[in-house]
Amino acid sequence: MKKILPLLLFVLPIILTIAQKVEELPMLKKLNLKPIETIIDEQGRKIDKETGALRINRNEYFKSEAEDANEIAWSFLQTKQEVYGLSHNLNDIKIKRIVESPAGKYVYCRQYVNDIPVSATNFIIYINKKNIVTYTLNEFRNVAKYGDMESNPSITENTALTIANEYLSINGAIIDNPTELVYFESMDKGLELAWKINIASMDPMGDWQFFISAEDGNIIHVEDINISANGSGKIFNPNPLVSANVPYGYNNCYLHNNGATNSCLDGQLVQVTLQDLTYENGLYKLKGPYCVVQDMEPPNVPIPELSTPNFHYNRDQGEFGAVMCYYHIDLAARRILELGYNVDSLKYLRVDPHGREGQYNAFYIPSKNYITLGGGGKYVYLAEDADIIWHEYAHAIWYRFNPTQGTGSMPIRTETPSVKEGLADYWATSYKRSLYPNNWATYGLWGGMGDSTLIRQIDLDLVYPDNYQVDGVMRMYEHSNGQILSAALMKIWGDLGREITDKLFLEAHLIWGEHPDMRPAMCFYKPVKNDYF
Ligand SMILES: [Zn+2]
Repeated sequence: MKKILPLLLFVLPIILTIAQKVEELPMLKKLNLKPIETIIDEQGRKIDKETGALRINRNEYFKSEAEDANEIAWSFLQTKQEVYGLSHNLNDIKIKRIVESPAGKYVYCRQYVNDIPVSATNFIIYINKKNIVTYTLNEFRNVAKYGDMESNPSITENTALTIANEYLSINGAIIDNPTELVYFESMDKGLELAWKINIASMDPMGDWQFFISAEDGNIIHVEDINISANGSGKIFNPNPLVSANVPYGYNNCYLHNNGATNSCLDGQLVQVTLQDLTYENGLYKLKGPYCVVQDMEPPNVPIPELSTPNFHYNRDQGEFGAVMCYYHIDLAARRILELGYNVDSLKYLRVDPHGREGQYNAFYIPSKNYITLGGGGKYVYLAEDADIIWHEYAHAIWYRFNPTQGTGSMPIRTETPSVKEGLADYWATSYKRSLYPNNWATYGLWGGMGDSTLIRQIDLDLVYPDNYQVDGVMRMYEHSNGQILSAALMKIWGDLGREITDKLFLEAHLIWGEHPDMRPAMCFYKPVKNDYF
C-alpha cells in the first residue's frame, strides 16, 4: 500500500487543467539534505550536537603576523583545526574566494573528500581591518564517521542527465545543464558520491537542482532553486470607460486631464493577483514565465521592484502601466494554455510600458520580440488600456505562434496587414466581451481618448470585398479593413461562444502560411472548424 499512495498523488494532477500546472510542481521536489544540528555551549557559542566542533563563534580572536588574507586564514586554520573539527593535514579544506568589503575581508572555504567537493559546506572566516579574525561560521559536515569513501562514479554523467530529464518529463527547451561530481549527505542514506545537475527548463518551469547517486543512479534530492511568488496589483479591466460604462469625458471626470487621477478613475481600479512574480535579491519583480516588464526605450520610467509583492498604484503613477502590462500579458498567455495550446515561443515576452519616446502609438517589434507602448503627456499612456495590450499581444501571437512567420518578406499589395489588425482587434475584443457581454463593441476607447479616428467599432456590418479599401505601399487602411474580419469573428463568437472562437483563432494560425489574404484567412476557419469540433 505504501508504494501506491505516492503514485496516485503523482497521477492525479495530470487530469487537472494546464492552468493549475504550476501547483503540481512541488510534487516534483524531494528535499533530502541532512540538517546540521547544533546546541549552544556555556560560553554562548554554537557547537555541533554530534561532535562538539565549533559551528558559530562570534567571540573568535586570532591575530597573525601576516597581512595577506590568504596567509592569515591558513595560519588561523592550522592553529584552530581541532576546535573546528577539521582534518589534521587540512586536506579537507580549500579557500574558494576572498571578498573585501569596507568592514574587512571574508575568506570563503569549502569542504573536500578525496579532492571532491562536499555539497552544502561553507567555512567563513571574517578578518577585521586590524587583521584579526573575530568571527567564524563552520558548516562543514561530519564526514569522518563514514570512513573511506568511493571516489569513482559507477554511472556516467550522461546517464545521470538522462535520469534527471526523464524524471521531469521535459517538454521544450533546456537552457543549460552544468554538472559536477560531489559528495552529498542525505537524511536517509548519509554521505554518497553524487552527480549534481542543474536544469533550467521551460516546461516544467523551474531551475531544477538534482543530486543523483553516482553509485546506483538513485535520485537523492531534487529542488527548484528558482523563487517565484504571487503578488497583488491594481489595474483597469479593461479600461475605466468600459468598466464604468460611460463615454470618454463623462461628467467631466472620466478624462485624461494630463495624466492626473481623480475619484472616478480611482473607482475603476480593481485588485488582482499577479502570478509567479520573481523574488530576487530581496525584491519582488514584474518578471514571470510569460511576461518580463523592462524599460527598453525612452522615456525612462523606472519599473517597480518592491520588498513586498503588493503593486498598488493609481493611474497617475509611472508604475501603474507596468502593473497593467504584467497582469494582462500574463493572463493572455495563460488563456492560450487554458485552451490547450503550447506557449513556449511566447514565454518571457518583454514589454516596455512607456516606450517609443512617448509617441502616441503601440507596437510589437517582431525582430526583437517585445511590445512597446507609447503615449503620455497630453495623451493617455496606452498601457492604461487593456484593449491595446491584448491587441499588441495578438501581434506577438501572429509572429511567434505561426510556424511559417519570418521565412520571407511581404509581397506588395498583400492583404495580410489588414488580416493581422483584424485578428488583433478580435483577440482584445474576445477578452473584453467575456468580462462585459453587453459593452464590448468599441475598441481602444480609453487609449484613443474617445477620438473617433482612433477608436474602432468591432460590430459593424461590413462585407468583403465591398467595404475593403485597397491598400497601397503606404498601407493606409489596414486597421479599418481589419474591422471586416474582426466583426465577422465577433459574429461567430456570438453564435459559437468564446471558447470555440478563440480556439479557431489559434488553430488557424497553424494553417494560414505567411501571407494570407482576407478571403483565405476567413475561409480557413471553416475546414478548421469542421475537423476540430
Ligand atoms: Zn496592430
